[in-house]
Amino acid sequence: MYYYIGLGVKLSLAFLSIQMYSYSMGGAVQGQFDLGEKISILAGAAKFDASCASSGSDGKAGKGGFGASIPAGICHSWTEDGRCVSLLKVLFSNVCRFDCAYCVNRVSADTKRSSFTVNELVELTCEFYRRNYIEGLFLSSGIFADPDIVMEKLIETAKKLRTEAGYGGYIHLKIIPGTGEKLIREAGLWADRLSANIELPTDKSLQTLAPQKSGKVIFGAMDDFSGLSSQFEEDRRRIKSTPAFAPAGQSTQLIVGATEEDDRTIIKLSGSLYHKFSLRRVYYSAFIPVGVNGRSGIPDPRLPDIPGPPLVREHRLYQADWLMRFYHFNAAEILDEGSPFLDPHLDPKTAWALKHPDFFPVEISRADYEALLRVPGIGAKTARRIIETRRSRSLTFDSLRRLGAVMKRARYFITCSGAFIDKIEDPRRVRRLLSDQDGAGLQLPLFEF
Ligand code: SF4
Repeated sequence: MYYYIGLGVKLSLAFLSIQMYSYSMGGAVQGQFDLGEKISILAGAAKFDASCASSGSDGKAGKGGFGASIPAGICHSWTEDGRCVSLLKVLFSNVCRFDCAYCVNRVSADTKRSSFTVNELVELTCEFYRRNYIEGLFLSSGIFADPDIVMEKLIETAKKLRTEAGYGGYIHLKIIPGTGEKLIREAGLWADRLSANIELPTDKSLQTLAPQKSGKVIFGAMDDFSGLSSQFEEDRRRIKSTPAFAPAGQSTQLIVGATEEDDRTIIKLSGSLYHKFSLRRVYYSAFIPVGVNGRSGIPDPRLPDIPGPPLVREHRLYQADWLMRFYHFNAAEILDEGSPFLDPHLDPKTAWALKHPDFFPVEISRADYEALLRVPGIGAKTARRIIETRRSRSLTFDSLRRLGAVMKRARYFITCSGAFIDKIEDPRRVRRLLSDQDGAGLQLPLFEF
């Protein structure tokens, strides 16, 4: 998550009133920081929330040049259709009463503490938006007071943006754990999306690493959201003037690798969240060991000692999640008790195909949409194109390629009018050919499907 302090941001800091103040919130003493420093502290404190992926650089222009970049403030997030959007991603405050072992803002961490005011955040969002730095705001907070009081601050910011500043951009608000239904309702009137982070997949893990959090409370918030969303939808069908309630739905985040749960447990949980609370997205965040990548604080003895974030595992979980959301797989099909972890060397769809040779080959000229979706190398769009095209003409391997099939993968799993390109005679050979060459060290594509 970065924003660029080139000419543009120098201008933006000039128009923002730089305020120096310090006050005590939640018992923590906060330093005196100007607005630029606050952005740096409170955007840095928000960057471990995985709802946005980001990239950037840290440096400044040489002699005679102009422009520099610092690691704070703006992250890049991808919409469902693959569009990249920039969000101002910050915390309202990084003062927190909780002591979640994996979090740089936990009460026991030795870190600079600061908070925005509502007016500062409104002004910052509007000015960044007007200058095209961002397309939206992603606002969370440490729990510096009673959850309802913290949530009220987030809501006040969103409401002021909408009603006083006339801001029509995207707003994503976190639901602070313990917030009541009334405030979730209020938040949904001003925000496009709300999210309550589960963080860890089981109550046992929450008790170990985030003892003040409870699965029951977090699921309760998701349930409240889901009930309110259906109620608003129903009302809108009957009464046209009913306002929209968080039209971009709700999402959550799960940290991967901080506790011992296997991928099967994580995928099953995600599957049930999509099913039960109609979540739009579950985000997976590879656990970043404390001290790595500039994360501050003394390592917490409750955390595992791992050399670096399990990024390949995170990537495979996103692929498995994609299979559930767009390829009609259910969690139990992707992983079973006997092999509860995703293969780091194979994408989960290919791994499933190699485990189910009885399902293949799929005959392209006859197979239904569901069967086509199961073929590695054939995506949802290509499957639809195949069905559409074969109504008017017969398909060949060449035409399949033109329709978007990745034949390097699909060739082992299909027939075209009874003909094979490559028959799976030795699944181990196919596995070898389709494996990532270099396992864990590989740079993996973001949109493999
Ligand atoms: S509640 Fe936990 S995860 Fe959230 S800011 Fe506080 S310590 Fe971090």
